[in-house]
Amino acid sequence: MNLADSATLCASLITRGYRRVAEEKDADLIVLNTCSVREKAEDRIMGRLGEIKGFKDTRPGMKIAVVGCMAHRLGKDLIQRVPQVDYVLGTDRLFELPDLLEGLEGTSGVMTAFGHENIDDIQPTLENAHSGFVTISRGCENFCTYCIVPYVRGKERSHSADHIIEAVRKMVDEGAVEVTLLGQNVNSYSFEGMDFPDLLQRVAAESGCQRIRFMTSHPKDLSEKLVETIAAEPKIMPHIHLPLQSGSNRVLKRMGRVYSYDHYRGIVENIRSKLDYVTLTTDLIVGFPSETLEEFEMTLAAVRDIQYDSAFMFRYSVRSGTTAAGFDDDVSEHEKIRRLNELIALQQQVSFERNQREVGEIRYSVVEGPSRRSEQFARARTEGNKTVIFEMDRIDEGTVVPVRITSADAFTLHGEPVETN
Ligand code: SAM
Ligand code: SF4
Repeated sequence: MNLADSATLCASLITRGYRRVAEEKDADLIVLNTCSVREKAEDRIMGRLGEIKGFKDTRPGMKIAVVGCMAHRLGKDLIQRVPQVDYVLGTDRLFELPDLLEGLEGTSGVMTAFGHENIDDIQPTLENAHSGFVTISRGCENFCTYCIVPYVRGKERSHSADHIIEAVRKMVDEGAVEVTLLGQNVNSYSFEGMDFPDLLQRVAAESGCQRIRFMTSHPKDLSEKLVETIAAEPKIMPHIHLPLQSGSNRVLKRMGRVYSYDHYRGIVENIRSKLDYVTLTTDLIVGFPSETLEEFEMTLAAVRDIQYDSAFMFRYSVRSGTTAAGFDDDVSEHEKIRRLNELIALQQQVSFERNQREVGEIRYSVVEGPSRRSEQFARARTEGNKTVIFEMDRIDEGTVVPVRITSADAFTLHGEPVETN
């Protein structure tokens, strides 16, 4: 979502006459769009500010703006901590930066209040030549006990379906082959009686987009109708990101996730029975307050049982102001790291096995650019959102190539282009 917001803000600045420069030290304006989900992300921003603030000595007119979640959370404290920062704009205010810079709305340096944005005024832009993100809903009100998002992104509100379709259509006109619809919980999208499956159907029918993706799905709201919609519409890519967080019912309850492992398992079985081919990915947290070794092992068992194609795995990080910040953070850092490493090693093995099942199959893949190792090899994205590498004479970004998968490791597929009728 931050990538999407950054691309939109950047495009809006460019229309006002700004252009990108190669090096930060030569910029008139540096914008840091920030994340607050884990402490590490915030530490990194403080580190970056430490590096950047010195540039002002040699370029006194330079402006520094910190925007997004961390800006919302810290507000004016951020300017107190780093006086070189000129603007602090929260998640609802970052799109006002171009106006602020032109002095149209005064010169107030800190703006973090919610409720100021007309969300349908936000015009998403392409992330790169062939794909883009379109935010369909902002904010979240699930209040999972560990999570800062509801506090820094505010109440959930959905964009109008017309606005979304228009945004996707514009991206397609600009060359997008793939568009990802974004929301903290896309499954609770609701606008004038339209739910998420209806929206997907409309985007597929009206936008001209060849490949539609979406994330993230909260298990509590993933409906049968959604699964049927994906099964019936080939333009919707068969990849579902379905965060489990923990394999233990007690921990899930304490996290405020409002589903049990059995319920989650049932959703997965249903998805796999209705879709011929689907990839499943997830988010997992280890070391949540009071998580016992046995409960951690339930997460390992869930990973073995469900067989995810890949996973984002995190060690629990206390976020001040959340409900879980009031719990005793009693799993030591050392033990959190140990559990995380064990989980990562297991998931790698599972990813390897899942990827082996792709060998021999043909995957229609969008070329994203040359592979990191060689200009003669293309890097492309399969329908299931996996990276595939194959030889290509002229790297033609944005083309969809049928690729037969010939080998795979835990992270990447390798293949060869094939002729199809
Ligand atoms: N809305 C999405 C959902 O409900 O799955 C996820 C959004 S959150 C920004 C992305 C992931 O970060 C979460 O799924 C969770 O695994 C992880 N996360 C959030 N808060 C965390 C915390 N305090 N410590 C560690 N990981 C956290
Ligand atoms: Fe955070 Fe839970 Fe909302 Fe996801 S659903 S953003 S984890 S509060």
